[in-house]
Amino acid sequence: MDILRSFVSPILGVLHKMQLTIQLPILRVAHGPLNWRLISIGLTLASSLFETLILLRQLPNYSKPAPPSSLADHFPLETYTKSQAYGRSKALFTLTKTVWGMFEGTLILYSDFYAWAWSASAGVLAYFGYGGEREIAQSIIFAGILALLATIPSLPWDYYYTFVLEQHHGFNKTTHLTFWLDFVKSLAIGALLGVPFLAAFLGIIKHFGQDFVTYLMGFLLVFQLVMVVLFPLVIQPLFNKLTPLEEGSSLRKRIEGLAGRLKFPLKHLYQIDGSKRSSHSNAYFYGLPWSKHIVIFDTLITQSTEEEVEAVLAHELGHWSLSHPTKLLLLNQVHIFLLLSSFPPFLSSRTFLPSFNIPLYPTSAPILPTFLLFQLFLQPLEHAMQFAMHAVTRAYEYQADAFAVAMGGEMKQRLGDALVKLHVKNLSTLHVDWLYSAYHYSHPTLPERLRAMDKLEAKKSKEGKEL
Ligand SMILES: [Zn+2]
Repeated sequence: MDILRSFVSPILGVLHKMQLTIQLPILRVAHGPLNWRLISIGLTLASSLFETLILLRQLPNYSKPAPPSSLADHFPLETYTKSQAYGRSKALFTLTKTVWGMFEGTLILYSDFYAWAWSASAGVLAYFGYGGEREIAQSIIFAGILALLATIPSLPWDYYYTFVLEQHHGFNKTTHLTFWLDFVKSLAIGALLGVPFLAAFLGIIKHFGQDFVTYLMGFLLVFQLVMVVLFPLVIQPLFNKLTPLEEGSSLRKRIEGLAGRLKFPLKHLYQIDGSKRSSHSNAYFYGLPWSKHIVIFDTLITQSTEEEVEAVLAHELGHWSLSHPTKLLLLNQVHIFLLLSSFPPFLSSRTFLPSFNIPLYPTSAPILPTFLLFQLFLQPLEHAMQFAMHAVTRAYEYQADAFAVAMGGEMKQRLGDALVKLHVKNLSTLHVDWLYSAYHYSHPTLPERLRAMDKLEAKKSKEGKEL
């Protein structure tokens, strides 16, 4: 125990010092007499405006008459025209939704909806005979009201997207029954997981006071790891059917061979019925470090040759071999640390919450409303973070492509063919504005990836000649 303590306490000390450094400049601002409500409305408007402007930059690309010259051979004019029409439909849908979101977000703040929902949840408690300061119970009711508010208006959008937009472009496979069952199941899971999660989240902050950050981060990390185990066992089977890939089939042997060569700890190899909802295709892996599972969409298997599926998986296992998921998890922890460390000054402020017409408790501020409203002020930072995270994931995509190509043989050709085929089948957009791509795309565009692979091969053959 002493050894553990001597190991952990210096780390806690460093983290604590870092928190203080972050909080000091924020403290003065958070305790100041600013009109927080007005600023939050301004930031919400600015944030939607920023997203709208980025979309408007991309829109003219859907009117370009021909594919990029490097892809002209793969995209017959008919397919290209379809992909342009699909891209334009999606962009116009997002544009409308963003503008609507701007009005909705502003209206919620302007009408003091948070204050109403907070006092309504106290009213619900009082109705059941509970008075006084029952913060966790009140917060759960408050979160329920907000979750309903977020879910119900988003239903018509989801419905339109699935049954009109995707249907029109030939991708939708979802039936009405599946759509509504998905909706009910998601609500039920949200409530079952959300209530205990929220209770623990608030309980930790209440218990540890201003020092909660490290403990809360520990809890969040454990929660994420538990979800990695629980999700495929408990949640995913509610939505999709995973079938082990047929024993002894040539595709199975091929993938097992690949995993064996790379020493990938493959435990299960599944095919998932992605075609139940959509004809978009994909493959991914998950699991704990010593026991991994690979999942391939049935749509990928039917649309590609076995060699191409293997190349797609060589790319995926490249992510594993280069520890990309672990690095992203660590980056995510840094993000959470910065977010949580900036929060305590707002919690101790006597001016912040009252600016939104929500009264303070006699000794403290209600945590959940403060936390949700505090996040509105991070919107500009979150946009910057999105650029940064996408720069990282794009670099990882190039690395995973390079990993697959380095396996030699026909891998470069096969991966290139597979990617082109996926783009054709998914009618992916081919002309992308650079700022739009930097903000929205976690992956480089197809021409960028193909060019990078060509460069790798050119470099390799040059080195070969020099030897
Ligand atoms: Zn990838």
